[in-house]
Amino acid sequence: MTEYQVDVLVAGAGPVGLLAAWQLARRGVSVRLVDTATGPATTSRALATHARSLEIYDQLGMLGDIAPHGTRVNGFIRHQGDRATRANYDFGDLVTRFPYMFNVDQVITERVLRGHAASAGIEVEWNTRLESFQQDVEGVTVMLRSGGEGAAPETVRARYLWGCDGGHSTVRKLLQLPLKGESAATWLTADAIVHTDLERDAVHSLSSPSGALMMFPFPDPGKWRLLDTSGEGELEQPEQIARQFSAKLSHALGREIVVDTPTWTAKFTIQQRAVPAMHVGRCFVSGDAAHVHSPAGGQGLNTGIQDAYNLAWKLAMVVHGQADAVLLDSYDAERVPVGQTLLASTGAVTNSAMAGTTPRDAQNSDRSFIRQLIWNSSGLSIAYSDSPLTVPDDEPGKGPRPGQRLTQISAADAQSPGWMVLRALLRTSAWHLLVFVGSVQPADQDQVSGDTLSLPAWVDTVTISRRRLAADDHGVWDSDGRVQDTLAANDGDWILVRPDGYLSARGTGNTHLREALDRLTSLHV
Ligand SMILES: Cc1cc2nc3c(=O)[nH]c(=O)nc-3n(C[C@H](O)[C@H](O)[C@H](O)COP(=O)(O)OP(=O)(O)OC[C@H]3O[C@@H](n4cnc5c(N)ncnc54)[C@H](O)[C@@H]3O)c2cc1C
Repeated sequence: MTEYQVDVLVAGAGPVGLLAAWQLARRGVSVRLVDTATGPATTSRALATHARSLEIYDQLGMLGDIAPHGTRVNGFIRHQGDRATRANYDFGDLVTRFPYMFNVDQVITERVLRGHAASAGIEVEWNTRLESFQQDVEGVTVMLRSGGEGAAPETVRARYLWGCDGGHSTVRKLLQLPLKGESAATWLTADAIVHTDLERDAVHSLSSPSGALMMFPFPDPGKWRLLDTSGEGELEQPEQIARQFSAKLSHALGREIVVDTPTWTAKFTIQQRAVPAMHVGRCFVSGDAAHVHSPAGGQGLNTGIQDAYNLAWKLAMVVHGQADAVLLDSYDAERVPVGQTLLASTGAVTNSAMAGTTPRDAQNSDRSFIRQLIWNSSGLSIAYSDSPLTVPDDEPGKGPRPGQRLTQISAADAQSPGWMVLRALLRTSAWHLLVFVGSVQPADQDQVSGDTLSLPAWVDTVTISRRRLAADDHGVWDSDGRVQDTLAANDGDWILVRPDGYLSARGTGNTHLREALDRLTSLHV
């Protein structure tokens, strides 16, 4: 029998590793989180946080910590000569309570994540590098080195290794997972105060003779993230970069714009690459370790957060013996296609930004292109319809369907009494079985009830009723019926929700529920 020193060793304490370690720890999995850096990153990187990430932050109970430090972006404005086309964030059928983009500095997102990880008992082991590892059928033996080259290495035996170690991932390389794709042009970016009257609740896209320019607002007064697709400029000369941006923006807008000396400048080569598999045996990769994108679409951090959110509960179930290891295959099945799809969509945005125009087939319709861009980047349309954890509908109907996220609700619906209680219940890390009992107790014998169906302890059964519940009832008093309406559920229906908020199955009655559970063969039900 193997002796393990830790259940999961997480390499990399960027946003993805922090979320991964936190989510494992809160589920009672022992974790070590190591990072080769000497301390938290201080440079500005991700700014754009999209609707699906905000939904996740809300479910994790960390949205309130992020919210005061960001700014809402409600539109996208494309300037072409004198013409400015504004498209507001319109998500169409993709209903969310966060119909906007939220700009918050990655430094803050990481600080908030570190705080939550610490409250779950995780302290980042800085200055500790994963150097190598070997895996066998029972576990992974990882070689760490703390305190630089001269220090003695440490060997750790773990059940699983999770590589969240960024674009140059050692874990990915040692697993020999190819990062397939291409590199494109090198861009320049700078964070600076810009003296302009441009609307601050929007991203701006402009054209200059040498390439395209983009401007993303920070919450700080007057501060913008500036992007120049020409890549021109010397990083060692920030004053020269300020003059260059002033000249290019003034030219693009036809009026004088003054840019102050930037607080941060960087050049980066656009990479569009992803791995064909996200786990090999007992080793996993997430975030930039698994896929790197052009920052034009603002997807890297957002997608990595979703990866970690997807895998953490699965790993915890397997570690606790609640599921077979085959459950972990669903991580690849669900997340590899997301990474691949993003290559195409962020590629289109990059090409468009580089050309300073919309793609040819949408040239006559800036708004429809921008709307498509907003939908793709929101993460709201991601669904796991073909996953082994999804029991397909016999008769597709209204409301969220298996494979989709549960909380397809507007901000107004989210504030209804029933949804307030239900959203709070969904914050626990369990699977949830929502059972709708309605206003009249049905006589039908095939009703779902805890008495007739023995469910595993990891399923939390939540009664949703239009009748006032007894004080000791575990459920939701849906007094105005908005939970039932938005979920398009009838009395006697049930909905089975995964810990990450996606529907696994829905149906009516005990018999159907038992059939659905039996189809989730990797779970010990
Ligand atoms: C200019 C710019 C703008 C961006 N804008 C956006 C945006 O608006 N929205 C968005 O979603 N994304 C954006 N991104 C991308 C985003 O910054 C990344 O996707 C995100 O940081 C990835 O997080 P991660 O945790 O996977 O990796 P990282 O943040 O790279 O963290 C990896 C960690 O692993 C550590 N590490 C590396 N090797 C080892 C090892 N061998 N052992 C131990 N530790 C190791 C590193 O020190 C690092 O701390 C932007 C990026 C840039 C550069």
